[in-house]
Amino acid sequence: MKQSMMLIPTLREVPADAEIKSHQLLLRAGYIRQNASGIYSYLPLAKRVMQKVEQIVREELDAIGAVELFMPTMQPAELWQESGRWHSYGPELMRLHDRHNREFALGPTHEEVITSIVKDEIKSYKRLPLSLYQIQTKFRDEKRPRFGLLRGREFIMKDAYSFHSSRESLDEVYDQYYQAYSNIFSRCGLDFRAVIADSGSIGGKGTHEFMVLSDIGEDTIAYSDTSSYAANIEMAPVVTTYERSNEPLQTLEKVLTENQKTIADVSAFLNVTAAECIKSLLFKVDEKFVLVLVRGDHEVNDIKLKNMYDADIVELAEPEETLKVLGCSIGSLGPVNAKGVEIIADHAVKAIVNGICGANEEDYHYVNVNPERDFSVSRYEDLRFIIEGDPSPDGEGTILFAKGIEVGHVFKLGTKYSEAMNAVYLDENGKAQPFIMGCYGIGISRTMASIVEQYNDEKGIIWPVAVAPFDLHLVAVNMKDEAQSSLANNLYHELKQIYDVLLDDRQERPGVKFADSDLIGLPVRITVGKKASEGIVEVKVRHTGEMFEIHQSELIGRVTEILSTL
Ligand code: ATP
Ligand code: MG
Repeated sequence: MKQSMMLIPTLREVPADAEIKSHQLLLRAGYIRQNASGIYSYLPLAKRVMQKVEQIVREELDAIGAVELFMPTMQPAELWQESGRWHSYGPELMRLHDRHNREFALGPTHEEVITSIVKDEIKSYKRLPLSLYQIQTKFRDEKRPRFGLLRGREFIMKDAYSFHSSRESLDEVYDQYYQAYSNIFSRCGLDFRAVIADSGSIGGKGTHEFMVLSDIGEDTIAYSDTSSYAANIEMAPVVTTYERSNEPLQTLEKVLTENQKTIADVSAFLNVTAAECIKSLLFKVDEKFVLVLVRGDHEVNDIKLKNMYDADIVELAEPEETLKVLGCSIGSLGPVNAKGVEIIADHAVKAIVNGICGANEEDYHYVNVNPERDFSVSRYEDLRFIIEGDPSPDGEGTILFAKGIEVGHVFKLGTKYSEAMNAVYLDENGKAQPFIMGCYGIGISRTMASIVEQYNDEKGIIWPVAVAPFDLHLVAVNMKDEAQSSLANNLYHELKQIYDVLLDDRQERPGVKFADSDLIGLPVRITVGKKASEGIVEVKVRHTGEMFEIHQSELIGRVTEILSTL
């Protein structure tokens, strides 16, 4: 491809609103442009990278017997009503009407559509297992679209779905996807880790996320310092045991704590540690109010809460709701005399002796609060986020944290959708059974950005060969020079037979061409300059910075050697 005919609008300046490397570099190097918040155009270079990522995905999925199809983006609301997600998906689901005022959703994922297709077309256990995938645009009206392609509102996803007549078959195919995903992300050159993730109400080890390790990752991975245990902190169970001290119980006392709202305020004001305080939060679990108690130095894990109640929606109560239900603002909530709400608590709360909590009265707290004596709790459960220093849930070692970007997700769905949508097949005995399902996603556009996040330097992007938009950047320093332009053209035609080559044939200053070349980040640059008349060119390896001159006769051999190592 000739650069003069491409669209690669590079920028010298770092765009002001781009906070992270991949967002900055993809904009600066002319790969993407934003059209609206979280909505991007993929310019020609980005399109080529995505095609390479998609090709890797297709090869690995085809190898495990998955077949590609293509489903509609625009999906009838009825399907989503059948599964129950028209309601539970909430505002992230983009909804629209057609000219007849019928309701539709723009697909954030395709469980409903695929289940309805398989329901209609597959009637017998003999056709199972069946594994189908597509690569398609997804829509999610994210609350905080940010970091460029990492969290878009319109993005490209590979989504796959498998259908089974037994749990064993699902387990087998799940393991195949797990392996295929490991292959895919390795081939993309990514430093990643597969971690145990939240599997909703299904429980167990039915889901893994593939996390690219990166400080800018929005997910936190809890891993053991000694074993192979790694989980998303969303689901990592806390196995810490708490000792209750034998200190004598003191008399409950209400104290004035004017303007002291947070745990930090109150503990400083009363000269106690955060661990001596009981943090009380009012949650709305579907339609019911629940007062959740954790120790002051811990955080409520709302995913655990959601799974415990098998709820669709778990959110903190609004200030008006808190006022209505418990008669005070958020900073004064507490379990003593909390009427009309269920009270649940994390295990750590049970061990608190003579603690502190809000008094459900503006500007007052209780001191010397003791669980069971001063309030009762309907259930003690594991309700908090794991923290560094907690024992590893597998019993080996201590928990440490790392940040990760979720690029892929494999998930055992079970019969959630098939039951809701009455999708059944006939088993060996002619009996109708709901399909057992798995689903498997990869963010293609997020993967591209994650690669840039891991492969860059101060000059620009450094693509691994497997996903680079072109293998070689052939730069002619001066196309007006006869010797240079003829050697450049000859090499271009020769190299193009074997490699993807971008020929910089623009009439630009050499400095501009070299800066653009480093920014765009193709693995190997071949410069045709002053020694063109002698048949000598300069090779630069983007990954190592290594530079050397070489005669054109030896070029292909050397380049092939170099590319095989990158
Ligand atoms: P997240 O927790 O980051 O919101 P998710 O759990 O909602 O992700 P899934 O529903 O499992 O994601 O989607 C499958 C894959 O799609 C993810 O692993 C991720 O790579 C990608 N993905 C999800 N949301 C986005 C987004 N807003 N922008 C880009 N890629 C996304
Ligand atoms: Mg999400």
